[in-house]
Amino acid sequence: MPSQQEIARIAEMRAVHSALLFLHNQEMEFRRWQRELAEIPAPPFGEAARSEWLEARFVAADLEDVQRDELGNVFGILKAQSAQPLVGVSAHLDTVFPLGTHLEAREDGNRIFAPGISDNAAGVVAMLAVASALKRAELRPACGIVFIGNVGEEGEGNLRGMRQIFSSKRWSQAIGTLLVVDGAGTDTYVTQALGSRRFEVTFRGPGGHSWSDFGVPNPIVLLSRALARFSDVATPENPRTTFNIGVVHGGTSVNSIPESATARVDLRSASGEELQKLEERLRECMNEAWTEVPVVFRAGEAKVRFTIEPIGDRPAAELPPEARILKIVRAVDAHLRIKSIPRLASTDANVPLSLGKEATTIGAGGDGGGAHTLREWFDCTNRDLGLKRILLILLALTGVHE
Ligand SMILES: [Zn+2]
Repeated sequence: MPSQQEIARIAEMRAVHSALLFLHNQEMEFRRWQRELAEIPAPPFGEAARSEWLEARFVAADLEDVQRDELGNVFGILKAQSAQPLVGVSAHLDTVFPLGTHLEAREDGNRIFAPGISDNAAGVVAMLAVASALKRAELRPACGIVFIGNVGEEGEGNLRGMRQIFSSKRWSQAIGTLLVVDGAGTDTYVTQALGSRRFEVTFRGPGGHSWSDFGVPNPIVLLSRALARFSDVATPENPRTTFNIGVVHGGTSVNSIPESATARVDLRSASGEELQKLEERLRECMNEAWTEVPVVFRAGEAKVRFTIEPIGDRPAAELPPEARILKIVRAVDAHLRIKSIPRLASTDANVPLSLGKEATTIGAGGDGGGAHTLREWFDCTNRDLGLKRILLILLALTGVHE
């Protein structure tokens, strides 16, 4: 089992020393990469330009078997003597920001401001930095490492990149353990995969003229009633369970009775059971609002209907307390004198965790804030502590000898 002495042994190796020195000295280069990357648009389902950027970087870093799959996930391998299984390290390429968002990065001292600069330009850069450091120091871990820039982590991406990787024959068999790098910081590691379900709920009616068709049920009103009911639901503190109504749209003009109204709803819980209950409550609220519609409109020619479409489903899962990756993260954090805490989150690690593989998500170092807003920032101060942490965790996972 990996102990703190084992981490100290790895950290004292000459090649590891030179890798750590590289990480410390290249900060200005990492900053350039991070700005460059953040300025490439990567909305969900539009990550291609970033995939290309990363592929070129993987080639420049001298990784082997650099390739891209049909979704745009990018892979580069650091080979070892023994073939299998690989340790994976991944960072998502996508952002929440739609095409057309102003992405220009601005620096103020050690701080960079740009949408997506922490989540997840910082993660991609950290992964690339560590890959470069390992190659530069000619470190040959006992088992190979696959570096992955994946698509589809955010929102409606619904973890499609990671799902694709772990449903492919090639990678699902090859990758034994996955370390996900997402966002800034060094103070947490994910031990529980937060489950989430997302729905698009819609009311549809015949619509009509505001004056001559007055009395026809209004989908916007029905949806509002359903959402108002739903937002009164009491969710437990423990296991923490939450919901959000994030998007509403519908209607054509002020003098038209709308034909449809739609909302997007996000449900989250540490417990699959609570998630199920919340989903049932959402259906009940839709149904209750619908039954308030006069029967003639529900059953007659001018039908009022509602639909609930799932648009996202992230499995809830948990790392067993005896997991090797947990012991390694804790030993590395003790070695680096980092005070970290376990965290419950919904990340790319949900996918391997739900398949019974060991995985966790950690930050890329530095500090950050304003995630998912236009005011997002990353502070580069002490970034190398986070990079050191990633490097040592990886080497402890793979094993390495002088
Ligand atoms: Zn992220």
